[in-house]
Parts: sequence; C-alpha cells; structure tokens
Amino acid sequence: MQVVKSIFDVRRVRRGLPGSWGLVPTMGFLHAGHLALAERARAENDHVGASIFVNPTQFGPTEDLAAYPRDLPRDLALLEAAGVDLVWTPPVDEVYPAGFQSYVTVEEVTRVLEGAARPTHFRGVSTVVAKLFNIFQPDRAYFGQKDAQQVVVIQRMVTDLNFPLEIVVCPTVREADGLALSSRNTYLTPEQRAAAPVLYRALCGARDAWLSGEHDGERLRQIMRAILAAEPLARPDYVSAADPFTLAELGDASRGILLSMAVRVGKARLIDNIRLIPDS
Ligand code: AMP
Repeated sequence: MQVVKSIFDVRRVRRGLPGSWGLVPTMGFLHAGHLALAERARAENDHVGASIFVNPTQFGPTEDLAAYPRDLPRDLALLEAAGVDLVWTPPVDEVYPAGFQSYVTVEEVTRVLEGAARPTHFRGVSTVVAKLFNIFQPDRAYFGQKDAQQVVVIQRMVTDLNFPLEIVVCPTVREADGLALSSRNTYLTPEQRAAAPVLYRALCGARDAWLSGEHDGERLRQIMRAILAAEPLARPDYVSAADPFTLAELGDASRGILLSMAVRVGKARLIDNIRLIPDS
C-alpha cells in the first residue's frame, strides 16, 4: 500500500496501475463501517484508493473540526489489512491552497435536514468530493447509507455535472444494540452511549408502522418523536419522513420514504436513517 500526501503522487500511482479503480473517501478514525466500503471496493475493482482528510470546509464555525478524532497510524494499518492500494493523506493546503475560491453548490436537496442545521456543510462535501473524483478519476466511488442526504447530494452532483463514474451505496453498519457506527460515537460517555440506541429504536418503530401499512408521513414522524421523548438524554434536532429523492417532507409515504433524524446526546450530534422503498 502506498501512502502519499501530494496530488502529483496520487496521479502518478493511479497512472502506473491500469485497470478499474474504486475510491473510498473518509475523514479517518476508521471503524467497521468505513472498512465495509473498502472491502466492497476491493471486491469490485482492480485497485482501491482511499482518502483520509478532515475537510475543514464541511465544518461550521462552531462545530467540532479541532476536536474531530484522529489516529492515522491505526487507520493506515486497517486500510492495508483491507487490501487498499493507495491512501491519500493531504495537508489542508494541498487541498485548499492560498487563493482557492471555487466551490460546487448542489441547490435544493441541500437546503433541508442536515443542510438546514448546517448551512455550509454540503458545499464543503460536494467541493471536496468533486476534487477527489478529479484527482483519483475512479470508476466507482463508495459511500455509506449512514449519511443518507450526502448520498442524495453526491448522486445529484454526479448526474448534473456528468462525472463518469458509478456511486455505490453501502448499508449502514451498526453495533449489536443498533447504534450506527460513527467516529463521533467516541464523544459519548458510558451513560450517553447507553442512551444512544434510541435513534435506531425510533427509526425501527416508524419502519414497522410503515411496513404494517401506516403511510401517513406526519403519523410516522409522531411515532419517532414519541420514542425519542422517552429518553431524557436525547435532544432531537429534527425528525423527518421525507421523499427519498427530493428530501421533501411527505404527507403520503406510500411510494417510499426516507426516515431520518439528528439527535444530540451530550456533546455528540448523532444522525441515522432508514430508507424504505415498496417492492415493485
Ligand atoms: P466519514 O469518515 O464520517 O466522512 O465517513 C466516510 C464514509 O463512510 C461515508 O461515505 C460514510 O457514509 C461512511 N460511513 C460512516 N459510518 C458508516 C456506517 N456506520 N456504516 C456504513 N458506512 C458508514
């Protein structure tokens, strides 16, 4: 596995290894969710590239950029064991040199949910992902369903700007009690960690209702809110039952639904979702 810092070296390694490439973008502090993406990329491509970059433009001014957990030696050992060929670990000024002023803005689907709470977040995500696509030129790029709106935004950008690659979405990897794996789970105290599975319980409550024929969006939101309200350590930011493609809140959810939420537990702001599409 080659570990490089410069764009020049990514392109050099990429050119030297012909065949298909899969790309796994990450912010590091890797867990089994990230590794599932790397393993899927390994299975579907001749070569796998990964990036480890805590991208400052996707953090708001009051967010956890400085505190974001990092452990590069451990991350590199995990990626090597997963069969990754090339890892890019750029310094910030390699990605955003002095004078940088070009951003990719995806419009409507970034104004709701995470975008409403974090107004500059998706501009940072789409910009860095567009740069990663231009630098690695992968045939496939791997993203987790855990960040459901990110998937919608990236798919929109790839379609709208004609990036010649396939986006592969991988299922959310969870702890045994349902908590979605996240680098930010490290912020939880033991008591908060015990409370955190309430997100998945709330999502499953609404999922089960939907599967039993409850297709009223507001009723599904109420089911999730009621389950969250029973956990005193959980402070919901939003609870959503939205169209899986437009992300508009739904009244009639019979044609498919993205159930999602952001909930503060202690210092951590946790997000999770379940996507439900009827059998055709
Ligand atoms: P991050 O390092 O948080 O930017 O995540 C990098 C990639 O890993 C993104 O595509 C995430 O959606 C994905 N990811 C993060 N957590 C999980 C998880 N629990 N299951 C599956 N994919 C995940």
